[in-house]
Amino acid sequence: MRLAPSNIQVIGDELAIAWNDGGESYLKLDALRRACPCAGCQGEPDVLGQIAKPGLTHTPASFRLRSFQMVGGYAWQPRWEDGHSTGLYSFPYLQRLATLPAEENA
Ligand SMILES: [Zn+2]
Repeated sequence: MRLAPSNIQVIGDELAIAWNDGGESYLKLDALRRACPCAGCQGEPDVLGQIAKPGLTHTPASFRLRSFQMVGGYAWQPRWEDGHSTGLYSFPYLQRLATLPAEENA
């Protein structure tokens, strides 16, 4: 069985995901946005293979979710309040993010 969410909803400032394997993940929206995997947020390797991180500016709206959709049965695509929507979060990526230790919750 391929990993996929059976249910996704926003609860407060967290994204709650119920997986089809019975597991659950909770992800802070701000941590999700900072982990946006798109080239604009994470940078692309230049011709020398060096990754130049673009200067990112986040506003409070950057961490609010306007809507989201599933893409091609393998990824979750959020649309943030600041209009950013190019990040495709594959399901395994989401699950891995959720297992990372959250510094803020220490
Ligand atoms: Zn991005």
